[in-house]
Amino acid sequence: MANLIDGKKVSADVKQRVKNETEKLIAEKGITPGLAVVIVGDDPASRVYVNSKKKACTEVGFNSYEYALPGDTTQEELVELVNKLNEDPKVNGILCQLPLPSQIDENAVINTIKAEKDVDAFHPFNVGKIMIGEYAFLPCTPAGVMELIDSTGTEISGKNCVVIGRSNIVGKPMAMLLLHRSGTVTICHSKTQNLGEICKNADILVAAVGKANFVTEDMVKEGAVVIDVGMNRLENGKLCGDVDFQNVSRKASYITPVPGGVGPMTIAMLMQNTLTAAKAQNGLI
Ligand code: NAP
Repeated sequence: MANLIDGKKVSADVKQRVKNETEKLIAEKGITPGLAVVIVGDDPASRVYVNSKKKACTEVGFNSYEYALPGDTTQEELVELVNKLNEDPKVNGILCQLPLPSQIDENAVINTIKAEKDVDAFHPFNVGKIMIGEYAFLPCTPAGVMELIDSTGTEISGKNCVVIGRSNIVGKPMAMLLLHRSGTVTICHSKTQNLGEICKNADILVAAVGKANFVTEDMVKEGAVVIDVGMNRLENGKLCGDVDFQNVSRKASYITPVPGGVGPMTIAMLMQNTLTAAKAQNGLI
């Protein structure tokens, strides 16, 4: 039976680390990190995420600034707000909650955020930095996955790592972070052939597909570390991941649950990035 990787505990440890450093930053330099969170429209899921991010800011001692804009906001209006936040010294990190309404080009907005305030690490400049391994900001979800793997004491170097999913937000940066740690990385996607066979070779398997129970027991190597990024809502309203948890946990050595695995890590890493941004903008790193 697999050991459970407790994302709540690991994320609490990350937030505690950020909180301690923030207290020091405030006491010694008089600097309180600030995160601006922009939400457009009234998507209930986005509202839940924004509230969690604001709550985490309070927990670690940051200032948070919410900008809730109506659903019919134009791209020009949003870009104007981002430009204002770019110039605001109280704001160290800017986050535009995705998805944005269809009249707004998400890339245009992301590209407007100053790279040094792009705490989601979605700006092409930061994406490029991730590619060459010289990053200030790590993309939050993959960075959280790395913390979870490290919490198990698993050595990544030389291991077969398989990432299912190639999105810009999860799959691709995930693969890069594993590669930077000298994993032998395979990225799979919807056109991959013999997916099960490839997954079965994985010492570390990361699923970021968005399909409930996609990863079954027969796709998993005995003793593998299995990380489930998926967040899927079942018909009964229950949240579940991409991995058939019950059966796969009989084979894996470590496994993340959903909820309580990767989910809490994403916000903790956002706090970490905002602290890094505050320090960098004040010449402290
Ligand atoms: P996405 O943009 O929809 O990407 C899904 C990926 O899965 C795509 O690359 C797709 O391949 C691949 N895929 C789909 N069907 C497949 C199949 N049959 N075989 C192999 N690959 C297949 O999703 P995402 O944004 O990366 O998110 C993935 C999941 O993670 C979602 O459930 C999302 O809710 C969750 N998520 C969780 C967190 C968190 O904080 N826990 C954060 C972000 C996302 P193609 O490229 O070929 O289409």
